Amino acid sequence: MRILVCGGAGYIGSHACAVLAERGHDLLVADNFINSSPRVLGRLRRITGRPVFFQQADLRVRADVDALFEGPHFDAVVHFAALKAVGDSCRRPLAYFENNISGTIHLLQAMQAAGAKRLVFSSSATVYGDPDSVPVREDAALRTTNPYGRTKLVMEQLIGDLCESDPSFRAANLRYFNPVGAHPSGLIGEDPGGVPDNLMPYVSQVAVGRRARLQVFGGDWPTVDGTGVRDYLHVMDLARAHADAIDYLVGEDRSLTVNLGTGRGVSVLELVQAFARASGCAIPYEIVARRAGDVAQVYADPSLAQRLLGWRAELDLDAMCRDAWRWQSTNPDGYGKAAVEQAAVEQAAVEQAAGETALHEWAALAAG
Ligand code: NAD
Ligand code: UDP
Repeated sequence: MRILVCGGAGYIGSHACAVLAERGHDLLVADNFINSSPRVLGRLRRITGRPVFFQQADLRVRADVDALFEGPHFDAVVHFAALKAVGDSCRRPLAYFENNISGTIHLLQAMQAAGAKRLVFSSSATVYGDPDSVPVREDAALRTTNPYGRTKLVMEQLIGDLCESDPSFRAANLRYFNPVGAHPSGLIGEDPGGVPDNLMPYVSQVAVGRRARLQVFGGDWPTVDGTGVRDYLHVMDLARAHADAIDYLVGEDRSLTVNLGTGRGVSVLELVQAFARASGCAIPYEIVARRAGDVAQVYADPSLAQRLLGWRAELDLDAMCRDAWRWQSTNPDGYGKAAVEQAAVEQAAVEQAAGETALHEWAALAAG
């Protein structure tokens, strides 16, 4: 199939590209690199052994989005492109609403105009806020606690309303729990700018020596060891779910909303211990006050995804930590300053990818 991947240079999008390419799909990646690096494209090329077609596009700009659809028809569109940092969204709510909502509206408008009617959407467990009970099922109450979460909920609603109004439009809302880990090659992974908000990248940076110690937010939660519990899932399992969702939309011709998680809650200290084992590094930590807006425990009931998609998470916490560590230890500064011996190779690959990225080449491939 021919698939448009919006936000495909980002953390989850790049891993999804690797899986989609492996399944034989032709991909056009669209991104504005607001939170990612062009270097990802060269790395994806190395992983897949195939050209990575790329078009720079800002989804806030309608003309950029329309241009993506000027070429061959897309059998499906995967929409990762969003701003995603909870704390930042509290400081800059307008930027989050503008980016996430207007980008989604433009994408849906362009899809409708082009008759492209299969969408896979990156939603989030954040739409459940502080759930009444765990494991969380898809029919749990939706109530977000921050501007980022509200944009995700509004985007789900927009997509739902479009499906109602156009009976031939099909969408998969994938509610991710806590994606972590990296591609087993160690070539792509999570590279947060600045101080990481999330636990796993913070722990990785402590292990690699970029940060002195982890602050554990709260040791008095009503959980197994007093620290917060989440449902961490390997990004490669998550990536696979996107390929399965596309098959479902096209094959079953139905929409769906599913949780993507392992169904297993893991505490902060459990994760720290697993990471220390996987990396062989000590992870110094101190327990500090709870983080504002945090909740005690959130983990998925992922059984609907298994029933509808045949999907279940296969990789365990040790694999998540091992792969996160491979990425972090071979790219201590993420994509920013790749190891010297890699730099020349990567630069060549990026230049080659850039030469192959124009839309007209994508069109030629599709026509051929
Ligand atoms: P990311 O920031 O690494 O990737 C998002 C990509 O979208 C980036 O490459 C960014 O440059 C691009 N982008 C953002 N706005 C854009 C715009 N206006 N035009 C073009 N490109 C734009 O984030 P991620 O972790 O890969 O998350 C992908 C999606 O999954 C997001 O929608 C996020 O909300 C959702 N999600 C992520 C998590 C998580 O923990 N990482 C959890 C649940 C849901
Ligand atoms: N956490 C922590 N220290 C950090 C970052 C996170 O103790 O530096 C805790 C956080 O309180 C929560 C868990 O780790 O209990 C997961 O946090 P993350 O931000 O990764 O995911 P989210 O809370 O958004 O599900």
